[in-house]
Amino acid sequence: MQEHHTPNTAPTATPTAKEGVYCLSCGYNLVGVTIGERCPECGSVIMQFATRNQTSGKAVASMILGIISIVTCMGYGIIGMPCAILAIVFAKKARLAIQNGTAPVTSQGMATAGRVCGWIGVVLNGLMLLVLLFYILVFIGIIGAAATGAAGNTPMLLP
Ligand SMILES: [Zn+2]
Repeated sequence: MQEHHTPNTAPTATPTAKEGVYCLSCGYNLVGVTIGERCPECGSVIMQFATRNQTSGKAVASMILGIISIVTCMGYGIIGMPCAILAIVFAKKARLAIQNGTAPVTSQGMATAGRVCGWIGVVLNGLMLLVLLFYILVFIGIIGAAATGAAGNTPMLLP
């Protein structure tokens, strides 16, 4: 009759991926997979769990800024141009993070969208800034003409 419990000889519990953990290489949901195993989808060995969110914050920021830059381009580029430039910067950061494995590859699409929107934003807002510059020059020209007209002794054409 054995009274004592047999020690739990089960192998030391290796951390198992919980819901919301994704493969850094292919973005496959790794729920139930342990460290050292291979990703069921792409076969790359799981060295560490991506504990961060599925999407890179930089990629999200890039896409949002890119969209804002396009939406606000009618504001003569004053808001849109900085947003467009930031969108491109964040897209580049996101792409680098994906390349060195600190951001999941699933953010690639969003980073690309951010970059494309950013460049569209640069073009649209650049054109609007040129229009604004044109208006300013015309305005300065009118003021200048009015000033010289008032101060100068150019005779008014009277009927
Ligand atoms: Zn994978």
